[in-house]
Amino acid sequence: MFDPRCIDEVGARGRAIRPDVVERGWRADVTKAYRGTILHFTGDPAGGGGNIHLLEDGALVVNEQGLINQVSPWVELPDELRAEAVQDYCDDLILPGFVDTHIHSGQIDAIASPGGDLRDWLESYVYPAERRFADEEYARRAAGDFLDTLLAAGTTTACVHTTTYKASTDAFFAAAYERDLRMVAGKVLMDAGGRADGGPVPDDYLDTDVRQAEDDCRELIDAWHGKGRGLYAITPRFGPTSTVEALRMAGRLFQEYADSGEPIWAQAHLAETRDEVDTVLERFIALKPRSYLDVYDKCGLVGPRSVWAHCLWPDNVYRSGLGGGRDWRLLKERQAGVAFCPTSNLFLGSGLFPLARTRRAGVRVGLGTDVGGGTSFSMLETLNEAYKVMALQGDYLSALRGFYLATRGGAEALHLEDRIGGFQPGNEADFVVLDFAATPLLERRTDAAEGLVERLFALATLGDERATKATYVLGRRAWTSDESHPDHGHPRR
Ligand SMILES: [Zn+2]
Repeated sequence: MFDPRCIDEVGARGRAIRPDVVERGWRADVTKAYRGTILHFTGDPAGGGGNIHLLEDGALVVNEQGLINQVSPWVELPDELRAEAVQDYCDDLILPGFVDTHIHSGQIDAIASPGGDLRDWLESYVYPAERRFADEEYARRAAGDFLDTLLAAGTTTACVHTTTYKASTDAFFAAAYERDLRMVAGKVLMDAGGRADGGPVPDDYLDTDVRQAEDDCRELIDAWHGKGRGLYAITPRFGPTSTVEALRMAGRLFQEYADSGEPIWAQAHLAETRDEVDTVLERFIALKPRSYLDVYDKCGLVGPRSVWAHCLWPDNVYRSGLGGGRDWRLLKERQAGVAFCPTSNLFLGSGLFPLARTRRAGVRVGLGTDVGGGTSFSMLETLNEAYKVMALQGDYLSALRGFYLATRGGAEALHLEDRIGGFQPGNEADFVVLDFAATPLLERRTDAAEGLVERLFALATLGDERATKATYVLGRRAWTSDESHPDHGHPRR
């Protein structure tokens, strides 16, 4: 179903070096050039400076198909194309669109709800909020508002839990299709933990049975997987609200599509809190699990294109003292992705993500907002909190590594780095323009900075949605902060 896109080697200054791309000519298939400070990555900066592509006065050239044609120093752009450049972002930062590896569309109205640990918070705020999506009109409007809020924050791809309602998932994919967005999403699977069994979930919010849930998933995959830029993810919420039959059904579907050559994605929460780990190890005791991750693995869910949110307590680490090494090894071997969700982990007091550890283990990691446990749609605010999570562990997150995690790192976690998250020729031209002077304080601080890397750190620490000057989807402007522009606050529909 998916045409593999070529990934070209990109030189240290961001110039494509594959000859046929250069020889294809600048003008034949080029529509627009964007001038500004251009930053993108071809890998983790921690793995070497050659992965960083930073041009202080660069041009991003996008063709008529909405794909990246070139990144070039502005001075090397031919005069004709320079004259035709219709956008001038000289004072701004042009970055690949942010990739949010974990977020809940059904929780847009549960964000900023106070109180309690994960279980209390789910019961008091989240399940009631998600139940409102039973109303199809509400679900349709909320899906549009959710995606527009992402675009206003500069996020162009997200890995999304919707709700248990099939119709709400249809509404989500339809809204993403209208906006041409590269979205990974799935209907939430929940068939346990209901109040009738002493759990916190309203019984009418659960799937009626596993067969019905499977039918829903298959119909959604047929309708949306590969339609436009939509990608389906099989989405068991997490262990405490799943039966082993449901997890096995999810794993079977995941494997079936992988074997068919038209792979789907998988996503769930993993080891967010210690109580959750205890609950899962008890619930699935018949599987004799080594760890929480092992439960998912025994059900066939851990592989490439599987994305695990949180992973704060791997290997049941607080009880066994094993240190998380076996789970990290398994995630690395299976090429699975992990979502680091700092605002959520701090808000719910869940724990500190061991980013340095995952780096050493070679695990694919992206950033997630985890709205509504997370407190912001903004990847800049998420970077700000990620820095603090690292600081609390005696570690350090550089600005460049932070922007890598928010873009290319997320794409790698989702196995989408051949299409999004960077500016290699042929990639989809999703990008964000960020304003170094979005607020008076940000302007003062970035003016006072000595060098671009210091400016980037100030932007990541002080910035939020206000820094988004424009968001582009497949080379078309989908959102702008310019209040006089007709697109302002109204993405293309
Ligand atoms: Zn979540």
